[in-house]
Amino acid sequence: MILIAGAGPTGLTLAIDLARRGVAVRVVDKAERHFVGSRGKGLQPRTLEVLADLGVLDAVRAAGSPYPLLRMHGPDGHTDRSMFEPGGAEPWMLGQGELEAILRTALAEHGVQVELAAELTGFTQDDDGVTAVVNGTEIRADHLIGADGGHSFVRKHLGLAFVGHPVDELKMVIADITSRGLERDRWHLWPQALPTMIGMCPLPGGVDRFQLTMGITDEPDEITEDYLRAALHERTGRTDVTVSDPTWTSTYRSNARMVDRYRVGRVLLAGDAAHVHPPTGGQGLNTGVQDAYNLGWKLAAVLNGASEALLDTYEEERLPIAAGVLGLSTDLLGKSIRKEEAGFKRGKETQQLHLSYRGSSLARGERGGDHVPGVFGPDFTLLTPEQCEPYSCTFVLVRPDGYIAISTDDLDDVRDYLRHLRLPLRPLATARGEASLGG
Ligand SMILES: Cc1cc2nc3c(=O)[nH]c(=O)nc-3n(C[C@H](O)[C@H](O)[C@H](O)COP(=O)(O)OP(=O)(O)OC[C@H]3O[C@@H](n4cnc5c(N)ncnc54)[C@H](O)[C@@H]3O)c2cc1C
Repeated sequence: MILIAGAGPTGLTLAIDLARRGVAVRVVDKAERHFVGSRGKGLQPRTLEVLADLGVLDAVRAAGSPYPLLRMHGPDGHTDRSMFEPGGAEPWMLGQGELEAILRTALAEHGVQVELAAELTGFTQDDDGVTAVVNGTEIRADHLIGADGGHSFVRKHLGLAFVGHPVDELKMVIADITSRGLERDRWHLWPQALPTMIGMCPLPGGVDRFQLTMGITDEPDEITEDYLRAALHERTGRTDVTVSDPTWTSTYRSNARMVDRYRVGRVLLAGDAAHVHPPTGGQGLNTGVQDAYNLGWKLAAVLNGASEALLDTYEEERLPIAAGVLGLSTDLLGKSIRKEEAGFKRGKETQQLHLSYRGSSLARGERGGDHVPGVFGPDFTLLTPEQCEPYSCTFVLVRPDGYIAISTDDLDDVRDYLRHLRLPLRPLATARGEASLGG
């Protein structure tokens, strides 16, 4: 059994990926109630592929919306612009709380319910498993996954450093509110507002719901409706815009921090527990989802007899990605604070489609590690000869998470690859492969 601490997007993604493979899983979360806020609301194109594979994309599309144009308000009026390059893949907007609800529904269809008010307070590990303490009761598991967010208990208990620094002196307030008076087909930004910028982003799913974000110089004792209204009116001059019903509020300071290890024996970290960074570029939730998607098939394979070395490749592949995301989001934050045009533009680098695992010990052949659009789990896939054409070779084996395991002209290389990792040969030939791999 795999024990997952934390039922945020990372823990839920991993739980579904394991449960659909028939792996026993428990998900415990210390929260009394499910999270309801908008928080990480931008689902990047690569994450949409993952959600398609997990069978929830239709629900995500139905509940969310495309990104609106940006409306930049200034002293001389406003201008409208798209954040995205024309013709490129765009993210999809859906509040984090709603995404989590969709993921929980999918998980329940696999027979797994999130256990609320269930706090992990300790664990030890030995050669055979992990003994975790949840609400004072011991739970025995094969592996423990710390998907328990930026303040991760699991990370601290492992004694892992969270290396990095704050990246913005300014604190931010974020609030989901009801508001009337602003066009709902625009994401309104007042970059020049004093004392600091303020933004109002229309949220999908509610007629008048907006996510308000603003920098603050003095932290209030409490974020009330009156406080938010006064700030909006003062900074925008738009006293006609109403503010009511704040259903979720939060204060945060952007940090860029990450661990230097994702795995200590049978305990692994994923998502914010392993890396935090500024929300600029909408990368945090997405990176956590992809941590989980990288880990899910490997954990399931190891439980079914594959080489333990697979679990080491999780850190090998995901740690450099997190380091890149820290740099990207910090860079975008700096540019937006300096009000540079590039700070409000999003392109290939934020879509996460170009990320690859080239150079990984799991990548073989010239195209090993590259992402193959539209080909994914739950099993390995051997591409058809026609599908192989863009890769200039005869055989391309794609991992369950959609990256090329091996590109080669020799089918024996494919067999050797799978045998080396003690992965089964048979499902390939019967499920989707075009060539028999034999026993
Ligand atoms: C204000 C704000 C705005 C953001 N905006 C964006 C954005 O626009 N785009 C984006 O991609 N990302 C954004 N993010 C980041 C995004 O919200 C996170 O990256 C994402 O929530 C990480 O998911 P997670 O599952 O790893 O962790 P979390 O969502 O933090 O979930 C961790 C879970 O673990 C539980 N937990 C903690 N300790 C324990 C314990 N001891 N035992 C059991 N359970 C425990 C918690 O209750 C929680 O439910 C934002 C974050 C913040 C704070």
